[in-house]
Amino acid sequence: MGLLDGKRIVVTGVLTDASLAFGVARLAQQEGAEVVLTGAGRGLSLTERTGRKLPHPATVLEFDVTVPEHVAAVRDAVGALWGRVDGVLHAIGFAPAACLGEDFLAAGWDDVSIALQVSAYSLKTLAEAFAPLMTSGGAIVGLDFDATVAWPAYNWMGVAKAAFESASRYLARELGPRGIRVNLVAAGPVKTMAAKSIPGFSRFEDVWADRAPLGWDVTDSSAVAKACVALLSDWFPLTTGEMVHVDGGYHAVGA
Ligand code: NAP
Repeated sequence: MGLLDGKRIVVTGVLTDASLAFGVARLAQQEGAEVVLTGAGRGLSLTERTGRKLPHPATVLEFDVTVPEHVAAVRDAVGALWGRVDGVLHAIGFAPAACLGEDFLAAGWDDVSIALQVSAYSLKTLAEAFAPLMTSGGAIVGLDFDATVAWPAYNWMGVAKAAFESASRYLARELGPRGIRVNLVAAGPVKTMAAKSIPGFSRFEDVWADRAPLGWDVTDSSAVAKACVALLSDWFPLTTGEMVHVDGGYHAVGA
């Protein structure tokens, strides 16, 4: 008996097998879920290739959160395939290079607005696409990097994550009466494509393993996947608007 037996889960953000979303998709299938993957733009063919490494074949659909036409198109495609959706994983993040690095003041609005749209507003875009298919309630789970403090180099991506955290609470408020839960998993640093694009990512790596009471391995996202699958399951029926840290306990200690 799997934790997600009979569930139909849409997983965004599978790019490579290092993607946090890949670990979630794999574990979701192992726990009995049917999974659809979505990918965007030039990365779509990579999503298709990486999807073939899952235990079971998964349909891959195009969904770029910056393309308004994709919202109805992906909803219609998933609706035709399944009729309903039980869970959605948001694993989407992007910020132009000017938004990251040493100089917080260097980024202009053109760049910042892209970071905010792709990394924060997209949670609402995802809800718009799939909440109408959650006819028996459901769960939306997003991947966060704790934005309650300022980090080196993370800059406007950190600001976008703060907006993402806030958006998750507003969506929880709005969608709760329809039985839809919205929760975030605040993960510690993991070596993925997105992480590699952050200059100075190694500074996170160096401190994390030392400080986290439970230790931390930047090449292992299995604990993140377990938390996401648990939140997508029926085992958190009255939890919403919550941010669960899966960071080895780093957030709880000062030094
Ligand atoms: P990843 O493998 O590079 O995944 C990022 C995904 O975002 C890619 O699949 C990417 O697809 C997608 N994406 C970017 N722009 C998009 C758009 N316009 N529409 C739809 N999808 C788009 O990196 P990851 O680290 O697993 O990131 C997944 C999530 O986890 C992100 O929200 C990230 O902030 C969060 N997170 C990561 C860490 C970490 O240390 N890695 C820690 C905490 C939280 P394309 O490249 O094809 O556009």
